[in-house]
Amino acid sequence: MARYTGSVCRQCRREGAKLFLKGDKCYSQKCTFTVRPTPPGQHGQARQRKMSEYGLQLREKQKCRRAYGVLEGQFQRYYEKAANMRGVTGENLLSLLERRLDNVVYRLGLGASRPQARQFVLHGHIRVNGKKVNIPSYLVKEGDVITLRDRSKELEHFKALREGTGRIIPKWLTFDAENLTANVAANPRREDIDLTINEQLIVEYYSR
Ligand code: SF4
Repeated sequence: MARYTGSVCRQCRREGAKLFLKGDKCYSQKCTFTVRPTPPGQHGQARQRKMSEYGLQLREKQKCRRAYGVLEGQFQRYYEKAANMRGVTGENLLSLLERRLDNVVYRLGLGASRPQARQFVLHGHIRVNGKKVNIPSYLVKEGDVITLRDRSKELEHFKALREGTGRIIPKWLTFDAENLTANVAANPRREDIDLTINEQLIVEYYSR
């Protein structure tokens, strides 16, 4: 499966926002975006010109895509799926992205960042309804139970999380830290997703 392999901090600098792709470093003073918030590249320090409407839409789409670690083609497919669903397209889009298994593992605090959560899924640490699922884009649904493989529960990283992951668990998930088990209580709604994204701009980008 293809994925972005360049500098992740560069993505935050490009989007002008913290995308939290590096775990603990993102919350420290060492965060590259905190130290150097200018866009990357030779002309990053230059005075920024006012962005066109198209530019704003493109940047919002890229910010959202990069935050969730999704490549272009797949992101467009999420958009098409969202547009064919009932309700508001932008909200449907965010709800679909939020239901990705790698995002759920991140939201529960099992992974320090979405890229790390993705790695845990790929390495077969995660079970959904008792079955191994190693596909990061797997969409969880209401009623699903997410657990760790028995062997994985004994790994130091996960053992330490039994005290609590320190993450604020969104309302649509419930988490039993002691047993490292989570339930999908409902499908995520827009107000449950704490991401500073203007999804309407993404809809406008694809509706051009
Ligand atoms: Fe972005 Fe985290 Fe890098 Fe900061 S440390 S620039 S939030 S990926």
